[in-house]
Amino acid sequence: MKNKILLLMAALVAFLKISAQDSDTKVILITLDGYRWQELFTGADPLLIGNKDYVHEMDVLKEAFWRETPEERREALMPFFWTQVSKMGQLHGNRNLGSKVNLTNGMWFSYPGYNEILTGTADDKNIRSNDKIENPNTTILERYNKTSEGKGKVAAFGSWDVFPFIINEKRSGVPVNAGFETATGNLNEREKFLNELQGQVPSPWGSVRLDAFTHHYALEHMKKEHPKLLYISYGETDDFAHDGEYQAYLKSAHNTDALIKELWDFTQQDDFYKDQTVFIVTTDHGRGTEPLDTWRSHGADIKGADQVWMVTFGKGVQPLGEVKQEEQLFSNQFAPTILKILNTSIPKEIKGQPLKI
Ligand SMILES: [Zn+2]
Repeated sequence: MKNKILLLMAALVAFLKISAQDSDTKVILITLDGYRWQELFTGADPLLIGNKDYVHEMDVLKEAFWRETPEERREALMPFFWTQVSKMGQLHGNRNLGSKVNLTNGMWFSYPGYNEILTGTADDKNIRSNDKIENPNTTILERYNKTSEGKGKVAAFGSWDVFPFIINEKRSGVPVNAGFETATGNLNEREKFLNELQGQVPSPWGSVRLDAFTHHYALEHMKKEHPKLLYISYGETDDFAHDGEYQAYLKSAHNTDALIKELWDFTQQDDFYKDQTVFIVTTDHGRGTEPLDTWRSHGADIKGADQVWMVTFGKGVQPLGEVKQEEQLFSNQFAPTILKILNTSIPKEIKGQPLKI
């Protein structure tokens, strides 16, 4: 009898441990603005990498990223995704193989895309421009920040200066560092240096900073504050594409792959995040392919700009690798998936259905 009770107690302790662990999962959501599935799954585009209109140093670029097969090209472009993530996680959106991920909003540009990713519901009635308008919708960052588990454990870092509005920083209470904002509060030496450097390294653009600043502000915040839900929005890929700079677009994609690896490596040597963290990576919209110059553009008039992708890896994610079967996912599914991972209830008004990852 006594033995039985002891066994039962041991089982109960084990069960409690597992449940406590499960509710302790952390999520890092990452977006690469306007990065095409075409480059993610097939690497450098043969029609663009050899095109003088878009590339100035063709030899250098080809040496770095041109290979005979799409498999070799994508690995040269994004080595972390194609050597590590492809083994431990999932890559959705290779339409050549039938795996499709689409936006459900009809705008196919940034604010509507981020609204859909972050809220789980497209809103074509209210979100119709990239203007700095406070989002009337509630993001999952705000929802999680309102729970007892998530309170004060949420943060967002973005390269584009519209994020304080998309996340509605004022109403949500979620701290957002975006555009050319500096780090504030009790700063460490690295943050002080980042603040100084950001003022001395001019961005090519007026409303988007270079991603290295966004990345390192986020990484320092992770080390200090250990958020349980963190959103990082890299922006360079979209702006270099609008500028028609294919060379810079590819180099930025390559660099972002390494930045994401740095985040992953950090989480795996940090007690708070190690084996407890799920990464979800996606984009706010696609871009065109035909006519060729539409690779620079997106929006409802650009064919294919609603075609996106999703990559996930980390705790509990099945290692499916590149998905090679017919499927149809939508961008409004990421928000409810994240709430589910965080053990937070999914409100009825969220349109998207959570994914089984
Ligand atoms: Zn754009």
